[in-house]
Amino acid sequence: MEELKNIPIYKDGRATLYDLYEGFEDLMRKFGWEKEIIYKIKIEGVEVPVYSFLSPVQGKSFWLLTGIHGEEPSGPNAVYRNINSIGELGRTIPMVIMPLLNPAGYYRNWRFHDVERSIERLNVTDCRHLIARTDDPTKPILDKPIHEIADTFTKYVLDLLKRYPPLVYFDLHEDELLTGGYVYSQGELEGNDPVAQKTVELLVSEKMPLKMSGPTRFAGEIITDGLVTDPDGKRVRDGSIDEFIANETYFDEDRNIVGKPFARTSIVTETPAGEGFSLEDRIRAQEAIVKHLSELWKMA
Ligand SMILES: [Zn+2]
Repeated sequence: MEELKNIPIYKDGRATLYDLYEGFEDLMRKFGWEKEIIYKIKIEGVEVPVYSFLSPVQGKSFWLLTGIHGEEPSGPNAVYRNINSIGELGRTIPMVIMPLLNPAGYYRNWRFHDVERSIERLNVTDCRHLIARTDDPTKPILDKPIHEIADTFTKYVLDLLKRYPPLVYFDLHEDELLTGGYVYSQGELEGNDPVAQKTVELLVSEKMPLKMSGPTRFAGEIITDGLVTDPDGKRVRDGSIDEFIANETYFDEDRNIVGKPFARTSIVTETPAGEGFSLEDRIRAQEAIVKHLSELWKMA
């Protein structure tokens, strides 16, 4: 992976792609994990693989995703800095780590994966072709995958669900428009999930400013005790990977509704990255989760 050294990096102190990939390699070198390629993307002339890392023990698993949005470097950096404790944990807890899902966005601080700044604004993990519409549950939100990477990504996840069925799922985000963070709980226990409540507690105990009540900046979402639901107190359904993981069914290629393994707990953290938060502050916010994975696992 020496050629990763040729890729420049957005200058805000985030680790380079080379450093991240070298660091993640320790999971294999020191702790006996395996890695699989989810997809590859060409960045500055270099073919860059996007990996999923799998712990040596298998079974009902803890899934951790970070780096879906390129302008949110804190999650990948928090995983990178804590790779030894994560590696160690994988000896006892079955785990799946996808620590940098959008390297093409990460290296130049661009939210989406498009190497050219297209107007399409595509999320790597778009699952809308697999998820039912809220107004007509007999139909998926989209007729087909929004783009090739989302197609490849979702096929990979569907296969992995059978090999490492998720029990607890976390997706770490941050938001530069926020000065107070919040937590989504999209699993079956919704706002009553003890893992979600523990997540809020951890962020508070690490002195992360949270918005504990009121609306989020997205329409139709309300916050109660730091946890986001729809106005009826139900889990948010937004067509995301986070909803998909917690859904019991999906639409196959023939648009049949099919059962699948699902995570009982699905948590998304949105930590603040607005004015006044340094990159170090932002990484510390993510570390409030990354350093406490075993405590969170015990709550499930
Ligand atoms: Zn995000």
